[in-house]
Amino acid sequence: MFASTDGWTTCSHGHRHWGRAGAAGILLHRDGAGGPEVLLQHRADWSHHGGTWGTPGGALHYGETVDRGALREVREELGLLPDDVVLGARSVDDHGGWSYTTVLARPARSIEPGDLRLDGESNGVAWLPLDGLSGVELHPGLAASLPLLRSLLEDAAR
Ligand SMILES: [Zn+2]
Repeated sequence: MFASTDGWTTCSHGHRHWGRAGAAGILLHRDGAGGPEVLLQHRADWSHHGGTWGTPGGALHYGETVDRGALREVREELGLLPDDVVLGARSVDDHGGWSYTTVLARPARSIEPGDLRLDGESNGVAWLPLDGLSGVELHPGLAASLPLLRSLLEDAAR
């Protein structure tokens, strides 16, 4: 049954996306010395847009809520359990026929990259300063959502 949403789909913008029921990910954020920091995943070279930095996440299963799907993905990809994070605001990037929902979350405990159990989908993860993201190559989906996410992160920091 889990394979049922696996596969490529084409959105109304003409992009190819993985996951027939859409996708979701978690943008973990914390207050750093120089402002908000976000935990991003350096995508494995073999993956779609490999080598870019993005939010951990992936395709939703049919009938799965966004929160459950996003939590399942970070468990698979980072080894994080639902109790390790506190979910916050959501941001939907709707492409028409496919959408990616980013769920903001704060760590419920100290989360450092060296403590995480990564699967093969990433080269690594890192806390990156929100103001320094122009210095790394972002996944195009994250890059497109960043202005909206930035305002949500600023709201969450108040
Ligand atoms: Zn698209």
